[in-house]
This record gives sequence, C-alpha cells and structure tokens, in this order.
Amino acid sequence: MVSIIVHGGAGTFRNEERIPKVIAGVREAVLAGWRELKRGSALDAVEEAVKALEDNPLFNAGTGSVLTLDGKVEMDAAIMRGKTLDAGAVAGIWGVKNPISVARKVMEKTDHVLLIGEGAVKFARLLGFGEYDPITEERLKQWGELRKKLIEKGETWHWKKLNELIKEYPEVLRSTVGAVAFDGEEVVAGTSTGGVFLKMFGRVGDTPIIGGGTYANEVAGASCTGLGEVAIKLALAKTATDFVGLGMDAQAASEAAISLATKYFGVDTMGIIMVDAKGNVGFAKNTKHMSYAFMKDGMEEPEAGV
Ligand code: ASP
Repeated sequence: MVSIIVHGGAGTFRNEERIPKVIAGVREAVLAGWRELKRGSALDAVEEAVKALEDNPLFNAGTGSVLTLDGKVEMDAAIMRGKTLDAGAVAGIWGVKNPISVARKVMEKTDHVLLIGEGAVKFARLLGFGEYDPITEERLKQWGELRKKLIEKGETWHWKKLNELIKEYPEVLRSTVGAVAFDGEEVVAGTSTGGVFLKMFGRVGDTPIIGGGTYANEVAGASCTGLGEVAIKLALAKTATDFVGLGMDAQAASEAAISLATKYFGVDTMGIIMVDAKGNVGFAKNTKHMSYAFMKDGMEEPEAGV
C-alpha cells in the first residue's frame, strides 16, 4: 500500500471564496506527489508535492511567503527519511524559490541537519540555486494592513502577543504546506513555510525543527501546521509518531497529537497530517480549517477538503 497526504496550512479562512482555489491547489500538489510515488520514491514524492505548493502563491511557502514584522521573507523548511533518520532543514532562508529542495540538499550533501540565515543562502548558491524573490504583491498588501492594525492598537511590537494576535486576526496564521508519503518501503515527511505573519525578525518556527514540525521514522511520519511555538514545546511531530509506535494508526495518532495541543494551548493552535508505515493516512486540527488532500492505492481521484 502506498499513500501520500498533503496540507496547505491550518487556520481560518475569513474569506470563504478562497476555499475552492486552495482545494484545487492541494489536489494539484498531491497529484504531483502521487506521480513520483508511482515511480517508487516517497522522497521524490514529498519534494515534488511541497514544491508544487511552494510555487503556488496562494500558500505561505516559497512564492507567497508571509512577511516578518520588518517586511522581510524568512522561510523555513525540512525533510526527513523514516528509514535512515536522514534529515535536512533550512531556517530563515531568503532569495530562493524552493526551500524544500535546499533542505533536501542539506540532508544529502552535508553532515549537518539545519542551516540558517545567511549560511543557508550561501549554501543554496553554492549548490546552484538561483536568486529568486518570493514576495508577492498580495502579501505586501496584507503585511501593510496587518501592521497598520497593530500600530493603531499602539502595538508596534507584539512581544508575547502572537497568540492573541492570531485570535484577533486569524489571517496571521496562514497556509504553511507539508507532505508525508509512504512508498511501500519508507515514510518521508516534509514541511515548508514563510512562518507566521508579523513574526519577529529571526524567529524560527516548528517547521525546520526535526521532531517539532517535521518528523519521520520507521513507523510513521508527520508534518505539523499552526502556531509553531506550540509544536516545538510539545515536540509534536515526534510525539505523534510515538503514538503510532504505541499501536495507534495514523488517524488515531493525529487526533491524539491535536488533543495534546488543545489540552496545553487551547483551540485554534494546531493541525497535523500523518502517514504510517502500513500506508494509512491521518489528519486532524483544532482550527476551523486545514486544507488537505490525499491519495492511496485503489483511489482514482484525490480526496480533498478544508
Ligand atoms: N507552523 C508555522 C510556523 O509557526 C506556521 C503555520 O503552520 O502556518 O512557522
């Protein structure tokens, strides 16, 4: 049994008109991954699916990444192989089109797991990744509006306020992407994001933290989305795979992981997708929406929703 699931981020769509477009985006991405999976590699499938989402400006990863408090793009991404525990990640990277592919190169070409900031950009250039500006007009406009709201409230700096901000302006949390696949031999997980709107310069979320937002081992893989600080504090992606190790399937483990997030940090904080090494898929969220799509052996068409 082979399978793949993708997500396009947890949060709330205030403008429900976006929903059909987002569903079309996750469907397209899961099909891109599925084509690779049929050729035999969960690793290629996850990279292709995440690249498709990074290249779609609707999602907050690669092109269309959200902006920091000071108006810059600092992207995070990670990829992990369940069989070997090989992992690669980049944090606070800019000026590249596909952070997930740079993360894969960190895994394959270096002895390290995580490269950050300028070092990550330098590494990408050494490996031949060309200069690319992922900032879109739409994100610039949203950044301006959100920042204005903050300033009007007299809060130019939201020290200790990200959680409240998300409750008031759900659009702060937006459309991170991820994919998890099983090729019959191994589970692979990958995640990519621009982070959270108006995040502090230098802030790194859960996405590139192995075990936090992204994890895969011999029993399962997980990709998280939501308030990154929550997933980091709960080591949520690793915890979710541990639930599979204890006997749950991917769906039960996803629900258990989200219950944990809700118990400690409340609702509107987290979403997760998983695949286990039997090929079961799972997904759960405590936010209003989380776009997802999956394909398994025997399915003619992806199942997708929010
Ligand atoms: N988890 C991401 C972060 O905190 C954001 C998201 O999933 O939307 O960077």
